[in-house]
Amino acid sequence: MADLPTHVIAADKLAKFIGDIFTAAGTSREEGDRIAHHLLGANLTGHDSHGVIRVPRYVQNLQDGDVKAGQGLTVVTEGPTHAVLDGNFGFGQTIGPLAVDFGIAKARGEGMAIIALRHSGHIGRIGDWGERAARAGLISLHFVNVAGGQLVAPFGGVDRRFSTNPVCICIPMEPGKPPLLLDFATSVVAEGKVLVASNGGKPLPEGALISPDGKLSTDPAVLYGPLTPGGPRGAGNGDGAIRAFGEHKGSGIAFMCEILAGVLTGGPTSGPVPEGRRRITNGMLSIYLDPNHFGTQNFVAEAREYANYVKASRLAEGTDEVLVPGEPEARTRSERIKNGVPLQLDTWNSIVATARALGLSEPN
Ligand code: NAD
Repeated sequence: MADLPTHVIAADKLAKFIGDIFTAAGTSREEGDRIAHHLLGANLTGHDSHGVIRVPRYVQNLQDGDVKAGQGLTVVTEGPTHAVLDGNFGFGQTIGPLAVDFGIAKARGEGMAIIALRHSGHIGRIGDWGERAARAGLISLHFVNVAGGQLVAPFGGVDRRFSTNPVCICIPMEPGKPPLLLDFATSVVAEGKVLVASNGGKPLPEGALISPDGKLSTDPAVLYGPLTPGGPRGAGNGDGAIRAFGEHKGSGIAFMCEILAGVLTGGPTSGPVPEGRRRITNGMLSIYLDPNHFGTQNFVAEAREYANYVKASRLAEGTDEVLVPGEPEARTRSERIKNGVPLQLDTWNSIVATARALGLSEPN
């Protein structure tokens, strides 16, 4: 199927427009620009499902009071190498950098730190946070849950029990060079990809979804219910689920993300809500390691040598090159900074509609 028509816009112009939208919606200019910067970063790295497509939903979340502007971290408990932080339902693009910088500062002192973050607004592309730590010379691992966003069936089941719970491992490389970056959801596809498919875009891969009768499916209606042209789409309208990737292995990682990022952080899991409304929040358990602390000589050089060895593998049929984690993101970023950010027309139109509702007009 052909790709859907796109609107291509220069990165800086898009960032300014998105910053304007959040400022008009009630954030400070500084926070609006910060949200724009991080959402744009997801588009630049090719993860459009976590980029500016989220603007209408974020603005709605702000208007509904599910996420709050101008929040900071509360330190719940702290020791020399760990802390529990509460994000107070602030924007993930504000709470994320604060929490990562807290971990970086702690790891600088002791060579390592474990930071349990709870009650953050949607924290976006997790690779963003791994890259932030890598710029400070730190290795980091992140386990994330998304309370309130149950969409994924456990291996062997059909009911939604997890969210798309992402994990990320990021390794700093030479100064100025992109890090090694593993960053993915534990579901076969992110919900954004089901949304795209439901609008006639790229079809879902085989076995991406499961219906209540246990049949595997690629039909987005399994998630959204009967599809009307142009939407709206609500995952609450369907009765099927997305599947965890990698059978019992991916399902097991998603499960552990709930335990680490939900239970251990003291935030909610994707379990039943005892009372009140369910808001979407991210929990994140992050581990920061300073390679120097481990006495590993030439860590970066040896990691590079090994990455090159992996890349030098003979190629499988139909493949041009072996990539290591992080290469697709780095390449897409260079390309999109140069040539602009392509947005599906639906995505662009919904952002413009959000802007207009706030009294703004679309940029020329
Ligand atoms: P994906 O399936 O595109 O996988 C991305 C990972 O695979 C990256 O590490 C990338 O470098 C690597 N990769 C991709 N192609 C490769 C290749 N050919 N060879 C080697 N490595 C390759 O990612 P996804 O599961 O669609 O997740 C998208 C984004 O969504 C991630 O940034 C994730 O953090 C984010 N996410 C966030 C939340 C949240 O609640 N905040 C929830 C789910 C996902």
